[in-house]
Amino acid sequence: MIAKGIKLYKQNFMTRETQLQPRSVLQLDNNLADAIRKMGQLEEIFAKLPGLDCGSCGSPTCRSLAEDIVLENAQLSDCVFILREQVNALAEELLQLAQKRPRALREAEPKGELNHEGNRITTED
Ligand code: SF4
Repeated sequence: MIAKGIKLYKQNFMTRETQLQPRSVLQLDNNLADAIRKMGQLEEIFAKLPGLDCGSCGSPTCRSLAEDIVLENAQLSDCVFILREQVNALAEELLQLAQKRPRALREAEPKGELNHEGNRITTED
């Protein structure tokens, strides 16, 4: 295996005949003032992300997801941890809504509280 590698090296297999070209650097905006404003947005969004760099959102790092959000190629809920928080908050809100009764039901309900056996206890004022 090593001998094969040495043979390929000696055949110039590992050399390039063309010069490597640099990749373009990410620009937040062509306008400098807008780019600076977007940089501020990027930092604000990045501060909201957990910073785990787990890649579950499809971006390699939390910072790159923040860049994608600023460039409108992603949204905050693409982070699975943010999505989980949002789903939890929504579930909590739904639970509170489910416990609310319409006014007609509240007014039709007899006054008093239920005791531990489920019997209504009315209090006379
Ligand atoms: S899923 Fe969230 S924590 Fe993971 S890399 Fe993406 S933004 Fe960061």
